[in-house]
Amino acid sequence: MQIQGSTVVITGGGRGIGRELAKHFAGKGANVALLDLNQADLDETAKQCSALGVTARGYLCNVTREAEVSTVMDAVVGDFGRLDVLVNNAGIVKDGLLLKVKDGKVVGKMTLEQWQPVIDVNLTGVFLCGREAAERMVASGRGGVIINISSVSRHGNPGQTNYTATKAGVAAMAEVWAKELARYGIRTGAIAPGYTATEILSAMRPEILDKLTAAVPLRRLGTPGEIAQAAVFIVENDFFTGRCVDVDGGLRI
Ligand code: NDP
Repeated sequence: MQIQGSTVVITGGGRGIGRELAKHFAGKGANVALLDLNQADLDETAKQCSALGVTARGYLCNVTREAEVSTVMDAVVGDFGRLDVLVNNAGIVKDGLLLKVKDGKVVGKMTLEQWQPVIDVNLTGVFLCGREAAERMVASGRGGVIINISSVSRHGNPGQTNYTATKAGVAAMAEVWAKELARYGIRTGAIAPGYTATEILSAMRPEILDKLTAAVPLRRLGTPGEIAQAAVFIVENDFFTGRCVDVDGGLRI
């Protein structure tokens, strides 16, 4: 697909990897619709993208809310006249061990309060945005591309029962959608970043982050721009669909 002149929707587009995705697509001439929870972040990303000569708009949208997602997708089609690419990027972490055991006694558990929000944002949000964007792509008759941001953690990262379940899930959904939606000209893909330098890692203790980085063959964190490059590849390569691109410095969990 030609990126120039297309409309790209990015969830969690206010900051982090989402902001860099927006700037990469804008740099190639795409107009960008940014969905996020924080107006100031949306304004800043939209400003940086507009400076590249494209139309950029921010939309306050909680991806877990069905009605909000539907309304925003309609607004995007209304404002831009088309919706060609969706990047399901919004995601959160609430880490914890399934069981915390001390001296043979269980002293803690992953709570439902840790489990459910991560499922809601990372899995249900991807389902809702993917479904609503696909509906509008089918209606347009022009097809499109849907990319789900997974993670190296999808292979099973200790302390991330909730997150791992969602990130394996969104890679699997990209495979299902590739098969279901190819007949409508819609391609899909997933990207599995390794540890990437954004605010999401600020929840991690520095000594743990150092330990994790030491296990990466390339011995560093990725940059948001390196993740965005993979998204550009998926959109531009018309023989790509349903697969997950790992961008993780060689790390295997
Ligand atoms: P950030 O925390 O920096 O950014 C995530 C963005 O998503 C924030 O702007 C956040 O908004 C937004 N967001 C959160 N919940 C919702 C919601 N319900 N509706 C709409 N927007 C929401 O994360 P990253 O940029 O690091 O991560 C982007 C994606 O990449 C995530 O899916 C993450 O799981 C994945 N990833 C990241 C890795 C990393 O090491 N950074 C590694 C592997 C995968 P707000 O801040 O206002 O709440």
